[in-house]
Amino acid sequence: MTKAPALFIGHGSPMNTLERNGYTDAWRAMGRSLPRPRAILAISAHWYVGATAVTAMPRPRTIHDFYGFPQALFDFDYPAPGLPELADEVAEVVKPHWVGADQDQWGLDHGTWSVLAHIYPDADVPVVQLSINALKPLDYHLDLGARLAPLMDRGVMILSSGNVVHNLRLIDWQDPTGGADWARRFDDAVADLMTTAPEDILRLAEHPDYELAVPTPDHFIPLLYTAGLAAGAGSAQALLRGYAMGSLSMSCYGLGAGDVRLAAGEASEGPPSGIPPDQTNA
Ligand code: ZN
Repeated sequence: MTKAPALFIGHGSPMNTLERNGYTDAWRAMGRSLPRPRAILAISAHWYVGATAVTAMPRPRTIHDFYGFPQALFDFDYPAPGLPELADEVAEVVKPHWVGADQDQWGLDHGTWSVLAHIYPDADVPVVQLSINALKPLDYHLDLGARLAPLMDRGVMILSSGNVVHNLRLIDWQDPTGGADWARRFDDAVADLMTTAPEDILRLAEHPDYELAVPTPDHFIPLLYTAGLAAGAGSAQALLRGYAMGSLSMSCYGLGAGDVRLAAGEASEGPPSGIPPDQTNA
């Protein structure tokens, strides 16, 4: 069994599902470069609920958890199978933390499929989602992430999907690839910690730009799962750095992703197109 990587992807707008831009080209390059995993455990900013749960159904539905987008996005389907046995494995490795098995409440949301539509466009790798428990403190998520490490040895890719900087109220529609000064300062601080001392990632909560960059924790918390895994391995790689609309960071990090960094960097040379923010969690 080939060890699988852990990735944090800055997903941006749901429209990235249907568009081709520098970011989506980079995600496609990752899919071509990485060894094919046995399955994917996805941690999406958009399953932010009052419990820790995993999707345990054999056929998770495609959830369209947004409004105000073209019909083509509501018609998009990502029919990847689930893997109930992986749900059991997750519950086992995170003990003594408790994880519920979701049989019919959730499925795959756009935090997961907007990215996987490019990394694995054929939807032929089983996907299980792990919810983000909104009732838990930040250090719980860092610890839970670290506990997922044995799954990587069993060929399970840990895919975290959010945005390091995510402030929808400060969107600058005139600046599709721009990053405000405060967004760049915070994104730089994240890159520094992820690549040198991911175990200290929670220090970011004291950063002077934290309140602007992380007005709500939902898109930031997925990074903590990658940081928890990176802490056990020493560090993560910055696979891609970039911004959208002034107040979103599209930066991506990886662990055990080999030489994918070069491919992502080359692909990101192209001009990312205008990326409207998603309308959820606004
Ligand atoms: Zn989002």
